[in-house]
Amino acid sequence: MSLILGIDLGTTNSLVGVVDSGFPILLADEEGQRLTPSAVNYAADGSIIVGAAALRKRALEPKRTVTSVKRLIGRRSGEGDWKPPYQLSEIGTTPLQVSAEILKRLKAIAERALEQTVSRAVITVPAYFNDAQRNATKQAGELAGLTVERIVSEPTAAALAYGLDKLSERQKIAVYDLGGGTFDISVLEMREGVFQVLSTAGDTQLGGDDIDRALAQHLCPAGADPVRFVEVAEVAKKRLSTEDSTRIDLPFYDGTNSLSVELSLAEFEKMMRPFIERTRGHCLRALNDAGVKADELDAVILVGGSTRIPLVRRYVAEIFGREPDISQNPDEAVALGAVIQAGILSGSLKNVLLLDVTPLSLGIETFGGLMNTIIPRNTTIPCKAGEMFTNAVANQQDMLIRVLQGERELAKDNWELGRVVVPFPAGAKGSARVGVQFAIDANGILQVLARDTATNTDTLLEIQNTAVDVDDERVEQMISESVEYAIEDMNERIWTEAKLKAEELLPAVDAALIQFGDAVSDEERLIIETAASHVRASLHADVHDAKALKAANQLLDDATQELAVRLVERAMEESLVRRGLL
Ligand code: ADP
Ligand code: MG
Repeated sequence: MSLILGIDLGTTNSLVGVVDSGFPILLADEEGQRLTPSAVNYAADGSIIVGAAALRKRALEPKRTVTSVKRLIGRRSGEGDWKPPYQLSEIGTTPLQVSAEILKRLKAIAERALEQTVSRAVITVPAYFNDAQRNATKQAGELAGLTVERIVSEPTAAALAYGLDKLSERQKIAVYDLGGGTFDISVLEMREGVFQVLSTAGDTQLGGDDIDRALAQHLCPAGADPVRFVEVAEVAKKRLSTEDSTRIDLPFYDGTNSLSVELSLAEFEKMMRPFIERTRGHCLRALNDAGVKADELDAVILVGGSTRIPLVRRYVAEIFGREPDISQNPDEAVALGAVIQAGILSGSLKNVLLLDVTPLSLGIETFGGLMNTIIPRNTTIPCKAGEMFTNAVANQQDMLIRVLQGERELAKDNWELGRVVVPFPAGAKGSARVGVQFAIDANGILQVLARDTATNTDTLLEIQNTAVDVDDERVEQMISESVEYAIEDMNERIWTEAKLKAEELLPAVDAALIQFGDAVSDEERLIIETAASHVRASLHADVHDAKALKAANQLLDDATQELAVRLVERAMEESLVRRGLL
């Protein structure tokens, strides 16, 4: 039985542990530290330092010291709202390689503590990480010489750490995770050893760093550079988690001037309150998405270093109407959960099963540019779902399948994960049968399979290679926009459907009028033509009025009702005559 490490690869801090004789433990480095800062320094001579030592070099070598690289991993070229103070291209490395350095260091810490080599690991990622980000994390592990057995969402890991001794109970819990740079809130259900994430929400640009920067700004005398004050701000912030006031001293910060001020807890709380209040909306949404009322929760678990802040604890109590559970060490809960998951996989812990959910809906674009959801948001993974599609136009020879992720009604407003062209034999409209199947594995990685059922030809879409150009914040934005634009989107969807119907109806009516000629009375013809002209006017109007077009379609439908009946009757008559039955 080989050991599997549990790793919390954090934005700010990382930890590693293992199940030892049935107990999950976290491993310390040579200095007795279990927390390894997620910082990597690349010295000019080519040497690489990871952890606290790298962090100490940051002030002197800001361009050579990489921090918060988790914000960059799995994105196309480092675009996004977050601008790092370093240039990875100048250093000659990539987010994946930097993450691999951190993982190598954690592996070394574990091997030293365990006195044996280890090559397997479970790594946690934020619940909001998309496919590309999960994959990049997995690859970083492999680059560090680790076989990544499982990628687990951080809140799920935290819940596992909390719930290990409550396996026989049935509980609904919320995990409130406020770390260095990100905020995550998830609602989970635990039942007979099964952990299921019911919903997840958060803000990928909100955490202790924001508080440090705001405090630095607050402390910074006019004309000075606030960056110089970030470090003392963080120290002061941490002291104010246990003290009522603190003295901040920074002598000769620019060579001549010194800073020495007293900061009271009240003053500090007033300053940071707006940041903490930003978590409220996400909490309410997560509850709403899970269909759980705050008073139905059995516990609200706090994790992430920033939940040591007393104001955060009071505010969480206010949001959920109960005192939060602080039984978990906020810095270690996620790592401990990763260790437990690793223990389950290696067989040293039993009777627990993990179920995660998809953070955003997955689907494909259908005719008319609409989003057709195949796997809805918050579906438990692993999962598999599919649908059958056909050709919208006669003699079509292939179908373009665009795989989309997002909550909006129109394909163009969602993100494209990949595309593939599925060929099939040309035929009449509606003759093709293309099955599209989506499968998400336990790591949250998507595979898309398209099958032409006539020829049984399969096309496999490699989503992995299509790094999604999405910054974390936009996942969050996508969900809020889907709510914001719901009415507008619905209008566009009804419009598109009405437009497709009108485009089918108009030529059919024209053809019928020609075919019937004299059999249609002048009065009937006038009514039909008027109705048709209304449809055309609506269809070509500058403003897309979905309701008006739908109503016009309906009128044209009504006006041609009798004509349609006669058309059918005549067709039947003709067919009977042809077959010599009349
Ligand atoms: P991440 O998950 O982003 O790696 P952590 O959970 O390790 O982050 O949290 C790091 C953050 O917690 C930092 O912003 C740090 O300043 C903050 N933090 C740690 N200890 C305390 C404390 N005692 N009081 C307030 N903030 C703290
Ligand atoms: Mg964390």
